[in-house]
Amino acid sequence: MNINRSKELYREAEDHIVGGVNSPSRAYKGVGGGTPIFMDKAEGAYFFDVDGNKYIDYLAAYGPIITGHAHPHIAEAISKAAYNGVLYGTPTKLENKFAKMIKEAIPSIEKVRFVNSGTEAVMTTIRVARAYTNRTKIIKFAGCYHGHSDLVLVAAGSGPATLGTPDSAGIPTSIAQEVITVPFNDIDTYKEALEKYGDDVAGVLVEPIVGNFGIVEPKPGFLQEVNDLAHEAGALVIYDEVITAFRFHYGSAQDIVGVEPDMTAMGKIIGGGLPIGAYGGRVDIMEQIAPLGPAYQAGTMAGNPASISAGIACLEVLQQEGVYEKMDQLGAMLEEGILHHAETYKLPVKINRLKGALTVYFTDVEIENYDQAEATDGEMFAKFFHLMLQEGINLAPSKFEAWFLTTEHTEADIKETLRAVESSFKALAGE
Ligand code: PMP
Repeated sequence: MNINRSKELYREAEDHIVGGVNSPSRAYKGVGGGTPIFMDKAEGAYFFDVDGNKYIDYLAAYGPIITGHAHPHIAEAISKAAYNGVLYGTPTKLENKFAKMIKEAIPSIEKVRFVNSGTEAVMTTIRVARAYTNRTKIIKFAGCYHGHSDLVLVAAGSGPATLGTPDSAGIPTSIAQEVITVPFNDIDTYKEALEKYGDDVAGVLVEPIVGNFGIVEPKPGFLQEVNDLAHEAGALVIYDEVITAFRFHYGSAQDIVGVEPDMTAMGKIIGGGLPIGAYGGRVDIMEQIAPLGPAYQAGTMAGNPASISAGIACLEVLQQEGVYEKMDQLGAMLEEGILHHAETYKLPVKINRLKGALTVYFTDVEIENYDQAEATDGEMFAKFFHLMLQEGINLAPSKFEAWFLTTEHTEADIKETLRAVESSFKALAGE
């Protein structure tokens, strides 16, 4: 495969843009480097790069593109918004319509606010939880990613239930000390954290179904206990549904796990591919926010007509009969086929899948928490990623990410993908 034009553009990008990319994982650091492919056009389930190569895409822009690229209904909505003026700085009726759609789909959200990214949404839920409880500490779970605001870019301490250390330069230790990180699916360590710090804990932040060390579901009863114990300690529970909202069905992951949080943060899919975030929850909590309450949050771009129009259009597509079932079926076909080829070539592969989202881990161990995901074979994943790219399959460049199906993938795409998987596994097995 010729990628000469991507190579040239990457060299140019490195001269002008930090690291040549505007978000670090795009530089393929998680898969041993290489030239990031510069895409030129995207349509449905396909990417076309600047050298004219075609790819089947499972990155889906890290999740938002659930209706495929350049979906005509969304493209029309964006175009209409562009001609009506993209930004007013006043309220619009579009925002009312979209707020109602979100509330209907996610009943725990009694009031909502639109912002511009998942990072902003999560960051603000933490501020609101702190304002509501008049406490400062946050409990989060190892390996869950919640955006790049200071407080959530904090790694686990060295022992169980210890205070955090910054995961990035530029974050004061004093801030990291406000965060307690515990392993996902480990109720004992969580209890220990609450026993030790409970009186200071404002909120417990969790991805109810994890997307950030692969797709990992909570053990039965885990999230109910997380809720009950948090509430006993006087802390709020915040679900980060930036990946999961509208990913598995028309609604949230909280329906699937059967537990309601006090607040929910969203992003990705609800913007139909345009920048967006949203957060919402119980009305008495949400009324902490300005102009009603003392917690401040604002945004020049917040609720802009273009993002809101794209979000409405995306949800309209997702309301159509059978879309989630189709993604589930194709996901099952992929899972089965990949496992079959792994067996043939005697490769250690485990797959975590929920509906149209799956993660392929190179390991013999079932993955239930971050440490296990971290211990999977990253070198083998890196080789697999590059082999698949050569075969015209665009995966997320990290062993911790999911493959996302869209409404536009077809059985023929899955067959072609499985052909590429077989060829890649054959190479990995040294045959
Ligand atoms: N929360 C979760 C669960 C995410 O996966 C992400 C992004 N991958 C974020 C928050 C941050 O969202 P954004 O990149 O839109 O700021």
